[in-house]
Amino acid sequence: MTSSDQHQALRALVGDPAHLREALKAADVAPLLMVLIHLGGDPAWLERVRPFIKGPWSFHEDAPEDLKAELREAVVAMLGDYVRARRPLPITPPMDLLAQMLDVCTGQHVPPEYYPLVLEEMDLADNDPKTVHWRKEPPEALQHFQALIIGAGFSGIAMAIKMQEAGIPFTILEKNDSVGGTWYENTYPGCGVDTANHFYSYSFNINHDWDHHFAKRDEIFNYIKRNAEQFHIDKKIRFNEEVIQANWDEGSALWRVQLRKADNSLETLTANVLVSAVGQLNRPQMPTIPGLADFEGPAFHTARWDHEAKIAGARVGMIGTGASGMQVGPAIAPIVGKLKIFQRSPHWAMRNPLYFERVTDDKKWVLKNIPFYAKWFRFQLFWSSSDGFHAMLQRDPDWTDQKRSLNAANAKVREQLEAHIAEEVNHDPELMRKATPNYPPYGKRMLRDNHWYRMLVLPNVELITTNIDHIEKDAVVTTDGVRHEVDVLVMATGFQARRMLTPMHIEGRNGVTIRDSWGEDDPRAHLGITVPSFPNFFILYGPNTNLAHGGSAVFHSECQIRYIMQAIRELVETGSASLDVRPEPFWEYQHKVDDAHNKMVWSHPGVDNWYKNAAGRVTQNSPWRLVDYRNMTEVFEPAEYEFRPLEKSGESAK
Ligand code: NAP
Repeated sequence: MTSSDQHQALRALVGDPAHLREALKAADVAPLLMVLIHLGGDPAWLERVRPFIKGPWSFHEDAPEDLKAELREAVVAMLGDYVRARRPLPITPPMDLLAQMLDVCTGQHVPPEYYPLVLEEMDLADNDPKTVHWRKEPPEALQHFQALIIGAGFSGIAMAIKMQEAGIPFTILEKNDSVGGTWYENTYPGCGVDTANHFYSYSFNINHDWDHHFAKRDEIFNYIKRNAEQFHIDKKIRFNEEVIQANWDEGSALWRVQLRKADNSLETLTANVLVSAVGQLNRPQMPTIPGLADFEGPAFHTARWDHEAKIAGARVGMIGTGASGMQVGPAIAPIVGKLKIFQRSPHWAMRNPLYFERVTDDKKWVLKNIPFYAKWFRFQLFWSSSDGFHAMLQRDPDWTDQKRSLNAANAKVREQLEAHIAEEVNHDPELMRKATPNYPPYGKRMLRDNHWYRMLVLPNVELITTNIDHIEKDAVVTTDGVRHEVDVLVMATGFQARRMLTPMHIEGRNGVTIRDSWGEDDPRAHLGITVPSFPNFFILYGPNTNLAHGGSAVFHSECQIRYIMQAIRELVETGSASLDVRPEPFWEYQHKVDDAHNKMVWSHPGVDNWYKNAAGRVTQNSPWRLVDYRNMTEVFEPAEYEFRPLEKSGESAK
């Protein structure tokens, strides 16, 4: 925005003071205070409000009404001053002031190691600091260069946007007839996100119009679609084309990528660079319960919801109580005749008052119009939903109650969660026993309580904790011999995450396949992105990059995308044909990951989850804080890779 545009925008703001004052009532105290300090630089206000901000969520603040009103007036006056003096907006506050602002904004201490991440995420100068630029002119070699991206979900679209900005020719191959990936495929009732959207969204294209703090499926799907259209990525997607095989051809240094089209015909494309953006949660995991095939009613997975199936008034059986089940149950309980929930093990679920709240029009207006408000709001969400919990996931070796909790902070959370369950189920001892996990908090993904516990007390809901023995044509039979008659069966049983990249056949150097490297359930990659013997192949949301403690998967994807863009820059600018991660840094990273996990909750004895393989190794989750992963992936290290020139010239990608 030019300074003249800025001035016009500010004039418009203060030109209608009544509206400005009214809209500011919707602003949260902490980000509004940050706006005032950001614009005015006066730390005195920080000290006045500091005692009332007790944590990073907006509901952690208890400032008195008269102080809030005074704060709003101070912002109105400050904006007026800017207009009168025609002052340009400042960009970054001085570092010592910024440090104080971060602490007050979150009600916690934000250590200096976070400052680079914070400044990058907030993008105060609106210049997208994560963008990777060519060191000189865009290289001519790009004219004969081709990248293929598999998948048009959240991360595939972002990868494409960044390649397009850099002038890298690319195509996305998408098995569905639409963009959106998991947010397209999952249409189950209640489907939504449990990371706040103003953070769970691209940092380079902030959306001020989220209707919900935690949006439901359609809103997120539409956001991804809008981005694909706005950046014209949709024109570069081949829909209904599923990659079934990719082979590395050493001679030409190209990937030969075979895809199956809607009419079942096959086609092979070639590419210098291949990026998987299929994610970890792409292929549903149907349970292998004897007799399931004999069930005569509708039976489907949550990610393949059968909207033709009549559930109103029906007896519905739901197997599984993870993140998907947590959303489906309360959404359908009011309309089904009977809901029988088959729980193998309970999840922990935490309350968040914002989970059900809509974003008011005034708040949207504030996000859109008040300078820097949206940036501080996003930072607050980053902090509230990310690394703050990390210490709670570490095992304290001296902690005596290891079965129930890991350390003092973890035990405290357990207490709060147990009290929440008790309150929500009206202190019903049987429901409390059934719904309370016997493992420490965070051992499985911490869910947002979607009124799950309240649902359990409804007269038409039954929580069955005896294991399933088999299924018959009209019933689920548990090991105690009880037949639970149902008309419809919903499988909320998760995804084939550990068999990563399944069912694609990916063959690298010397005929080594990804299954040779990983086996059935041991995916590994350097920084979660590259695998030795698979040159010029990059994985988004790959091994050990799932965020199970908090944070946004979009943040992680953006870190990976920056790294991949630097790798491609190195490849192209050095005139190399291929780059392949060396085994030494790869293994060094694997050991680091495993060492970190060995001290954490997901590998804890007695904790079972989809993050661990049959050998007990955590293959899915990142053990790192967001700041660690951001720092590890910030700079692509060429020394960790073997670069090779082209063996024979001639063929270029098509
Ligand atoms: P999930 O977390 O893997 O949960 C699967 C559930 O099915 C678990 O309760 C599991 O029990 C049960 N189960 C699996 N096989 C079974 C069998 N043979 N018999 C009985 N029960 C069985 O899957 P999900 O709920 O689809 O979630 C997967 C991931 O997707 C989440 O962790 C999250 O990352 C993402 N997700 C996010 C959201 C959101 O943002 N709100 C929503 C949905 C999904 P055990 O626990 O005993 O294994």
